[in-house]
Amino acid sequence: MIPKIAPEQLLDKTVNAFCQRLGEAGFAGDIETSYGARLAVATDNSIYQQLPQAVLLPKHQDDLVLLTIIAAEPDFQALKFAPRGGGTGTNGQSLTQHIVVDLSRHMREIIEFNAEERWVRVQSGVIKDQLNAFLKPHGFFFAPDLSTSNRATIGGMINTDASGQGSLVYGKTSDHVLALTTVLIDGTVLSTEPLAAEDAKAKAEVDSTEGRVYRQAIQTCTEFRQLILEKFPRLNRFLTGYDLEHVWNNSQTIFDLSRLITGSEGSLGFVTEAKLNVTPIARYKTLINVKYDSFVSALRNAPFLVAANATSVETVDSKVLDLARNDIVWHQVKSLIEEVPGKTMQGLNVVEFNDEDAEAMQQKVDNLLKRLDEAIDAGEGGIIGYQLTSDERAINQIYTMRKKAVGLLGNAKGQRKPIAFAEDTAVPPENLADFIIEFRALLDSEGLSYGMFGHVDAGVLHVRPALDMCDSHDEKLLRKVSDAVVALTAKYGGLMWGEHGKGYRSEYGPEFFGETLFTELRRIKASFDPNNRLNPGKICTPWQSNDELVSVDGQKRGYFDKQIPIVVRQSFESATSCNGNGLCFNYEENSPMCPSSKVTKDRRHSPKGRAGLMREWLRLMQNQGVDVLAQEQKLLAGGSTHSWWQKWQNTRAKHQGEQDFSHEVMEAMEGCLACKACAGQCPIKVDVPSFRARFLQLYHSRYLRPMKDYLVGSIERSAPYFAKAPRLVNWLTGNPLSAWFIKNTIGYVDTPQLSVPAITKRIAVFQGFDLATLQAMPESERSKVVLLVQDPFTSFYEADLVEDAMHLIQSLGLNPILLPFLPNGKPQHVKGFLAEFAKVAKSAADFLNQLHALNLPMLGLDASLVLVYRDEYNKALGDSRGDFKVQLFHEWLATQQIPTLSGMGTYQLFAHCTEKTALPVTEQTWVQIFQKAGLSIKPIAVGCCGMAGTYGHELQNQENSRDLYDLSWQQPIANTPAGFILATGFSCRSQVKRYEGFKPLHPLQLIRQLIAAQYPQ
Ligand SMILES: Cc1cc2nc3c(=O)[nH]c(=O)nc-3n(C[C@H](O)[C@H](O)[C@H](O)COP(=O)(O)OP(=O)(O)OC[C@H]3O[C@@H](n4cnc5c(N)ncnc54)[C@H](O)[C@@H]3O)c2cc1C
Ligand code: SF4
Ligand code: SF4
Repeated sequence: MIPKIAPEQLLDKTVNAFCQRLGEAGFAGDIETSYGARLAVATDNSIYQQLPQAVLLPKHQDDLVLLTIIAAEPDFQALKFAPRGGGTGTNGQSLTQHIVVDLSRHMREIIEFNAEERWVRVQSGVIKDQLNAFLKPHGFFFAPDLSTSNRATIGGMINTDASGQGSLVYGKTSDHVLALTTVLIDGTVLSTEPLAAEDAKAKAEVDSTEGRVYRQAIQTCTEFRQLILEKFPRLNRFLTGYDLEHVWNNSQTIFDLSRLITGSEGSLGFVTEAKLNVTPIARYKTLINVKYDSFVSALRNAPFLVAANATSVETVDSKVLDLARNDIVWHQVKSLIEEVPGKTMQGLNVVEFNDEDAEAMQQKVDNLLKRLDEAIDAGEGGIIGYQLTSDERAINQIYTMRKKAVGLLGNAKGQRKPIAFAEDTAVPPENLADFIIEFRALLDSEGLSYGMFGHVDAGVLHVRPALDMCDSHDEKLLRKVSDAVVALTAKYGGLMWGEHGKGYRSEYGPEFFGETLFTELRRIKASFDPNNRLNPGKICTPWQSNDELVSVDGQKRGYFDKQIPIVVRQSFESATSCNGNGLCFNYEENSPMCPSSKVTKDRRHSPKGRAGLMREWLRLMQNQGVDVLAQEQKLLAGGSTHSWWQKWQNTRAKHQGEQDFSHEVMEAMEGCLACKACAGQCPIKVDVPSFRARFLQLYHSRYLRPMKDYLVGSIERSAPYFAKAPRLVNWLTGNPLSAWFIKNTIGYVDTPQLSVPAITKRIAVFQGFDLATLQAMPESERSKVVLLVQDPFTSFYEADLVEDAMHLIQSLGLNPILLPFLPNGKPQHVKGFLAEFAKVAKSAADFLNQLHALNLPMLGLDASLVLVYRDEYNKALGDSRGDFKVQLFHEWLATQQIPTLSGMGTYQLFAHCTEKTALPVTEQTWVQIFQKAGLSIKPIAVGCCGMAGTYGHELQNQENSRDLYDLSWQQPIANTPAGFILATGFSCRSQVKRYEGFKPLHPLQLIRQLIAAQYPQ
């Protein structure tokens, strides 16, 4: 029996009172104290987990001032806070057991832009790619790059002093900060920018918090200047947190306090605004992908490439290349890094040249190519080949692969997973190859597997050794390897934190800085935050405080995960394997990943949020002694764990406000559109719909289902009956009184109208299905038969499409036969009726396997249903699924001869998000089909349309459904004449009809119409 579960960690009384006081005082942002909301920010991409007491999401700077002023009241002075942006830290930088202040949800405004003076002013929650998308039309970009650019915030970048590809030329974030506004813990709003020495000193004279901070900074950075210069490594990736070296300029005439705040990891204040330098986008760019016989060859060759005046040199090892080969990203890049015949590519250097002047750039490219050719001819340097491209799209695709590398590394099989703890070492580039040889020997000696890539031009290496954080031996190994890497980087004149900041590695700070300088860091911390209330334990603690630094032995996620039995963890791998890299919470409006998080900006409603809730739910169930897998088996076998009466009582208690963590999990699952974009796009293949369906089944073993679940779950059984009298049913469901009734009782709106005439009437002219006839058919006749598999959406609600598909097949000289309608089971799966789904799937599979024996093509029209045969059927039926194959119409059409046609121009393809994330070549295949027919079609980058099966019809989703449509569909649809819009998804066509009043054609319908008009029979 599934019990009710109360979260273990209740809210601290003072935190509760603080939140209440904040709300009463007019805090305009969100105050979240639910267990689910706190869990959603309890992890980042690191191995650590800390449950905060509350999450505050300010709307603007005034909220932060209010928050800090109230926090200074006597009752609340013990409270501590950690700022948070995108939560993509790899070392627990933003994790805290205190209060998280998340600036990423609301503070996303680009405030001011000055093209002439080349700067932009932004709120700190702005996402790096959001900023660059804004700047692009003006010909500029914010140069420091990082792999998490589609979800990391400017505030986070400033506080980790982020950088990445191209840092030799473009520098780090701190090199581009012109001014900062920071709210300090006592409510002071501190504005910082480069000041003449005398102005900085004048500020230091004033008796105020600002004066105190300036006094300390001037004293430390002046008095210890010589020691600072000696101690700080001379690296492109200079020492962050706190960057004492660059507060003064070289001649000590300019003093810039912002330099202390950049890289301070939220330990000095809340950065609310930044004025940033912007860089013109180079007009000409070329990428050369240089291939090597080994990773060491690639590393050793890097200085030669840098010396050729490259803008950047990035390297990738064979392990990362292999992982990319198995990911959705590969189909975009494979033609740019083809295998070299007769050789094995074990390493790759991606070399970028860019310039304002085309000739100057070509000169640099030609010089390098000449030298590469010579090296290949002479068999030198392990270089086995190269490819180049100047196409902007292709260049971006290569970088997308490179940016995905960390995520891909996480997708390892087995219990040991690649983890971040020593993943961003930096050494002088000339030492890199030797450093890596020793680093590898260290990892090999411990029997660890790993993949490597990095910014070789800057001497930065990314490596994630695979460890099982649920295993105490591996946990000890982590400490051992960590210590060894600290020593190794020191030996090679480098840093352990070359890129991602310190976080839980702060314990190594004293060793790197030495006692004198570390004491100065502590004095600086004390001048900003004397009581250690901001991100306590990170970087350093205030001078004279007895508080401790955080350490790599901090509380890890593994501590919680290992409480879940290994069989359960494995069974729910699609939830438990999420490594928190945050790719699913990206800003890109045109990307299918993940519509619910985009529209809510709520981390609980992202794949990571849902996976985290599910994991915690499994842990809490286990702690109550529940065998979740046994419960599932019982339900799958048709049994029930609660009587209807018990469920009714539980549901009543729920409505009366009884607490149960399962309700929080349920709320997050209900917001999911089951679009499956996560399953295709998450580098770890976290598949929310698969564990969501299992959770729904378990949840409803304790609580009653809403009526609409039964309506959706039975749609495939009822639709064939409704289709017998479509006009009557349409009238019954479509008249205003019924619509009102359905809306207010079942919670369903805009009920789709059945097709008139129904499918059975439309296909009467074609040969009907009869298995015996097919079996008896002579081979010559049977080879022309094409079977069309029905689905409930197109057959009953878009019968014209099915009819067109039949005609199109016929016009190609073949014999289309429509199979009898058989439920597919998807609606049941979506709603978690898994026992029923398994039965439906078995019966459909048995039928389709019979036909499979005839070796005839079987085609389906709607991707969201056809893909269920491939994925959910496999999971539910295992071997008994059989080998039947249902192709999507375009997969089959691509193999057929199509007559030459003439169209009206270039058509626009709006592909279904489920389809293009599961089958990334979908759009390309349609382009090829159209080209073959002499037609032109252009894929349009759009995200989810907001309909996703029945999601858009459910009353509670109306606002989100509309917002999603507006996010990426509305504009391109409005800009395209209706006759040029082609959409592959039933849901998408229905959504356009709902909001625009017309239904776009499926691309096959256009082809069918053109054939009918241009080749009349
Ligand atoms: C897959 C992957 C790849 C990565 N690649 C790179 C890379 O190429 N280059 C790189 O530099 N980093 C990289 N990182 C690390 C990470 O993305 C960066 O450190 C990034 O700058 C963090 O931004 P964020 O908004 O997610 O900040 P968070 O992780 O939320 O916070 C980071 C730190 O900044 C503080 N902070 C955040 N916002 C504020 C604010 N407004 N005021 C005060 N303090 C604040 C937090 O307290 C915390 O200490 C990578 C991480 C992952 C998971
Ligand atoms: S769900 Fe996937 S993309 Fe999202 S954080 Fe987890 S692993 Fe990353
Ligand atoms: S199925 Fe779609 S909406 Fe649901 S979590 Fe995955 S990407 Fe988000």
